[in-house]
Amino acid sequence: MSGNASRLSSIRAISSGKPIDVAMPKPLSKIWASDVFNLAKMEEALSKNAFKAMKKTVQTGSPLDAATADVVAAAMKDWAMSKGAKFFSHIFYPMTNATAEKHDGFIVTNAEGNAITEFTGSLLIKGEPDGSSFPNGSLRITNAARGYTAWDPTSPAYIMNTPNGATLMIPSVFMSWTGEALDKKIPLLRSNAAMDKAAKKVLSLMGEKNVATLNSSCGAEQEYFLVDENFANSRPDLLLAGRTLFGASPAKGQQFDDHYFGAIPERVQVFMQDFEDQLFRLGIPAKTHHNEVAPGQFEIAPYFEAANVAADHQQLLMTIIKNTAKKHGFLALLHEKPFAGINGSGKHVNWSVGNSTQGNLLDPGHTPEENLNFLLFCGAVIRGVHLFGPLLRAVIATASNDHRLGANEAPPAILSVYLGDQLEKVFKDIQAGDLQPSVCGGEMDLGLSQILSFTRDPGDRNRTSPFAFTGNRFEFRAVGSSQSVSGPLVAMNTMLADSLDWVAGKLEAALDSGLDQASAVLSVLKDLMDEHSNVIFGGDGYSDEWHKIAVEERGLKNIPTTADALPAFQDPAIIALFEKTGVLSPVELASRYEVYSEQYILSIEVEAKLVIDMATTSIYPAAATYLSELTSAIASASSVGVSLDNSLAQKVATTADAMMADVTALSAAIAQHDFPTVEDHMKFCANEIRTLMDSVRTHADLLETMVADNVWPLPKYSEMLFIK
Ligand code: ADP
Ligand code: MG
Repeated sequence: MSGNASRLSSIRAISSGKPIDVAMPKPLSKIWASDVFNLAKMEEALSKNAFKAMKKTVQTGSPLDAATADVVAAAMKDWAMSKGAKFFSHIFYPMTNATAEKHDGFIVTNAEGNAITEFTGSLLIKGEPDGSSFPNGSLRITNAARGYTAWDPTSPAYIMNTPNGATLMIPSVFMSWTGEALDKKIPLLRSNAAMDKAAKKVLSLMGEKNVATLNSSCGAEQEYFLVDENFANSRPDLLLAGRTLFGASPAKGQQFDDHYFGAIPERVQVFMQDFEDQLFRLGIPAKTHHNEVAPGQFEIAPYFEAANVAADHQQLLMTIIKNTAKKHGFLALLHEKPFAGINGSGKHVNWSVGNSTQGNLLDPGHTPEENLNFLLFCGAVIRGVHLFGPLLRAVIATASNDHRLGANEAPPAILSVYLGDQLEKVFKDIQAGDLQPSVCGGEMDLGLSQILSFTRDPGDRNRTSPFAFTGNRFEFRAVGSSQSVSGPLVAMNTMLADSLDWVAGKLEAALDSGLDQASAVLSVLKDLMDEHSNVIFGGDGYSDEWHKIAVEERGLKNIPTTADALPAFQDPAIIALFEKTGVLSPVELASRYEVYSEQYILSIEVEAKLVIDMATTSIYPAAATYLSELTSAIASASSVGVSLDNSLAQKVATTADAMMADVTALSAAIAQHDFPTVEDHMKFCANEIRTLMDSVRTHADLLETMVADNVWPLPKYSEMLFIK
C-alpha cells in the first residue's frame, strides 16, 4: 500500500487501537535480576574461594586468575543452559552509539558425533569477532581485520530471551590486535581508574585512612517518543532517519502544557509496565516514568548505578524500549528531535563519585561550608567544566543533538555550571576570603496544619543550565537521547581526574608551607575560584543576554553545531588531558575524531537523500495530482461560464516548482565530496546541506497546508502526536 491509501488505513487502524493482551505481572521479588548472573547467583554456584576472588574483582577491579575464570565460565554456562540458552555472545560497544554482538554455540561434537557443550575460561575471557566492519578511525590498516572482545567481569552477564530461545550475553571490551581501544567501554574503565587515582591523592592529603576504590555513578533519565506503528510505516523518514523530515505544525501542539506529568494513556501504561518488567528481570532498577512535555513523549529513569554498569544498562534499555514498543504496536523514537516545533528528547546524565568508605564525595551535607572534602571535589568539577567545556560540548555533538541544543527548550550550547543559591554563595565567600555559615532551605510552611511540614531544598532548580548541581550530584542535561552515556561519563571522569590532580598538587604545597588543613583547602579553592568562577552561572541560560555575556565578558565558548564542536578532539590541551590521564592515547583520540566526524557527515547525507526521495516521489506527485484536480475544476467551471479563483492553483504550482528547484540544488550539493579537510566537509554539511534540506521542507510543509487532505500521502503531525 502506498500514498494516501496507506495514510487513511493508518487512521482507521489507530481509531480502534487498544492495549495488547499481557499477562498479569509477577511480584518484583520473583523477577528481580532473575536473568542476571550476579554475585548472589555466583555465591550459590561457586566454591568459597572462587566466589571471594570474583567478588574482589567486581568490587575493586583487581585481576582474576585463569583457574578462577575457568570455574566461573563453567558455572555461568550451567546457569545459562538451565535458562534455556544454547548460545553465548560477547556484547560490546563500538564507537557508534550502538551495541554489537556475535553469537557462538556452547555446542561441540565429540568423536562419536554426539553433541556436547563446552565453555572454558578462555572462551569466556576472550572472543574474536572480525573487527574489520566496525568503525576504527584508521586505527587499523584496511587488510588488518583482527579485533578482540574481552570479558568485563565488573558488569554482570545476563540472558536475552526471545519467544523460542535464550542467549547468554557477556559484557565485553573491544580492541584491535595492537591493543588500541575500539569501543566506548575501555575509555570509561580507564577514566574511572584515573579518577580513582587522583581522588585518592587528594583524600590522603586530607588525612583519610583506608580509602576504598572510588567509582563514578550514573543515573540516566531517558526521554523518548512513541508513534503508532501504522503511521510510522507510512513515514520513510521515521523508519530510516528516526525523525520527521517533513510535517507542518499542527493547530494543537504542546501549547497547553497539558502533557507533562499528565495521565499516561492506558496503551502506553501497559507498554511501560511490560518494558519495566523486562528491565527488572535484567537487574535494571527502573524507578521513575512519566509523560514528558510534548504530546507522545515519555521518560524512564532507572535508579543510579556504578557508571560502567549503568552505561551497559543504558544500552540495553534502549534496545528493550525499541523491541517492546514494537510488540505493542509502537515505534519508539530515541531521536533528539523527531518533530520540528515540538520539544525534543534528551538524556540527563546524573553523575557523582564516591566509595564505600567516604561515601558520595559530591554530597554537601547540611553544612557544605564545613565539608572540606566536598568543597574540594565540587571545586574540582567547576575547574574541569571551565577548562574542558569544549570537550563536554564535543562528547554530546551529534547531527541529531544539534537540532535540540540551544533551541530554547534544551540547554544552550555554552557550557556553564549551576550551583544553586546556597553553594554559589559558599564558593563566592571562599573567593572573597570571608566564609560565612550557609543558609539552608528552611521549613516549608503552607499555613495548612493538615499538610505535614518538610525541609525545603537549599536551592531551586535551574532547567536552563547544561550542567547543574542537583543536591548530591551533577546533572549533565545536554546529552542527547539517542547517545551512549559513555562519552559524557568519560569526559566528566577524565576532567575530574585532571582537576583532582591539580588540587592535590596545590594542597600539598599549601600544607607544606605550614597552613593548617582548613586554611590550606580554602587557599586552594580561592585560587581555583579566581581562575574559574566565570563558568558559574545561575541565571536564565536561554536568554540573549547570557549568550552575549557568556562569550563577550566571561570568555566562554558558544559552540552551536557538531561541525564546530568535534574539532575539540584535535585541541592540544585535550590531547594532553587524555594522554596524561591514560584514558586515550593521541592515536585513540584521533580515531574518535575521525569516526565521529564521519558519522556526522553520513547521517546528514542519508537524511538529505531521503529528503530528495520523499519530495520527488511522494510530495511532488501529491501536489501534481491536486493541481490537476484544481485546474480541471477551474476548466470545467469556465466551460459553463463560471470563473473560479485560480490563486490556490497558482500557489500550489509555484511552491511545488520551488521545492523541486531546491531538490535539484540539494542533489548537486550532496554529490560534492572533495574537501580539503574533514572539518570543511562538516561545515559544508552544517551550513549548506542542512540549509537546503530546510528549504525543501519549508516548501513541502506549505504544500501540506494547501493540498487536499484526501491526496496527502504522509501521516500528519496532528495524527501522529496524540496517542489514543
Ligand atoms: P529529575 O527530578 O531530575 O527529573 P529523576 O528522579 O527523574 O530526577 O532522575 C534523577 C536521576 O538521578 C535518577 O536516575 C537517580 O537515581 C539519579 N541519582 C540520584 N542520586 C545520584 C547520585 N548520587 N549519583 C548519580 N545519580 C544519582
Ligand atoms: Mg526527570
